[in-house]
Parts: sequence; C-alpha cells; structure tokens
Amino acid sequence: MSARRLDQLLSSLGYCSRSEVKHLLREERVLVDGAPARNPAQKVNPDAVRLDGEPLDHPEGLYVLFHKPLGYVCSHRDSPNIYRFFPERWLLRKPAISTVGRLDKDTSGILLLTDDGLLLHRLTSPKYHLPRVYDVTLAEPLRGDEAQVIGSGTLMLEDDDKPCLPAQWQPTGARVGRLTLHEGRYHQVRRMFAALGNHVSALHRSAFGPLTLGELAPGEYRDLRDDELALLN
Ligand code: URA
Repeated sequence: MSARRLDQLLSSLGYCSRSEVKHLLREERVLVDGAPARNPAQKVNPDAVRLDGEPLDHPEGLYVLFHKPLGYVCSHRDSPNIYRFFPERWLLRKPAISTVGRLDKDTSGILLLTDDGLLLHRLTSPKYHLPRVYDVTLAEPLRGDEAQVIGSGTLMLEDDDKPCLPAQWQPTGARVGRLTLHEGRYHQVRRMFAALGNHVSALHRSAFGPLTLGELAPGEYRDLRDDELALLN
C-alpha cells in the first residue's frame, strides 16, 4: 500500500475532517508504527496506523456484497434506506460508498457497493454490462410465449423508444421463473412483464455477473474476496 499524508488518509476514510486531525493527534489517539503521531502532514503507510487502538477501516477501498432486504431504498436521500446496515463512516468517506446500480424498495437480493469510482463507472457502463439474474414471481399464470418474446429483442417498454436487448427467460413453474438481463433500465423487470400483460408480485436478484449471495441472509454483508474482485476487473 502506498504512503499517504496522515490528515488526508484519515479524512478520506471518514474519521474526521482534515482540520480535525490535529485534535486526534494532540489527544494521542493516533499511533504510527506504535508511536503517537505528531505531524498531520507525515507520510504514512495505512497499515502502520492505529486509531484508538484499532487498524484503519478498509484503507484499500470498500468492495462489499450485500443481501438487500425488502422494504429499503438504495438512495441515501430517502428512507428507510440500505445505508443503515453499514457503518455511518462509510458515507463520510471521500468518495463515499455507493451501490453499483440499484434495486427497488420491493426487490430483494444481491447488491454490490464500493467506493472505487473507476470500478463503479465500469460496472455501470452499458459497454460492460454483466448479466443480472432475477427470480421472478408473477401475479398471473404465464402465457407460454414469454421466453420467445423476451429473447427476440423486440419487447418495447412503455415510454422507451428502443426495444429491450434480447434476454433469457426460464419458467420454473406456472407463475415463476428466472430472468437474465444484459442491460439495466429503470424498473426493467416489472416493466417487461407489464408489457407482457402480467404483473411482478415478487422480485429477487440472485446473481450479479459471477457473484451470488451464498449463505448471506437478508441484511447481511461481507467483503468481496480477492478472487471475486479479480473476476470483475
Ligand atoms: N428490475 C426491476 O423492476 N426492479 C429492480 O429492482 C431491478 C430490476
């Protein structure tokens, strides 16, 4: 990990403002290589720093896999939102943590969060669109032609001027199935089934590219493993 100015490091990780770092130092709450730090401008290796006896929180960046529960929005301006599940400091980081795309309030499932602007940009770019897999429950029985229409690249959504890209629909019961999308439009799954004369009554995202939830329960999160991160790069 490369050396950084102590005041810049602590403020970018959301511990305090840059100007407040000197108070922490005066109170001897910050150790570098075991000794109280005195100079906010000192260049430090983040691994060598302890604040109140603790290592710094994810100095190398946040890459978090979250099982979003039903009933929470992804925007931090509205509530209840998903950010209550994470340390408050993660929103004070610069850049702050944010979601890679969004899930509706009434959708559960896999959500990736990061403070890595480059990764966020790449994963949300239409050019690099990872497939997203959704488990869909419908209010009405399937007609039977959904896989063909959804796969044809001709399905038009209300208010859009281009048809949806071809997607894959695998029915698994009279009102349930698995949809794989290769683009991300606003409320896309709900609008696709509305265009097919049906109504989505429950929606869960089970995969985001190569990532799945595994044992994570709703409301739980974990760091991405290095091998998972490598698959996204
Ligand atoms: N499509 C939707 O309609 N809602 C979501 O949350 C995700 C995809």
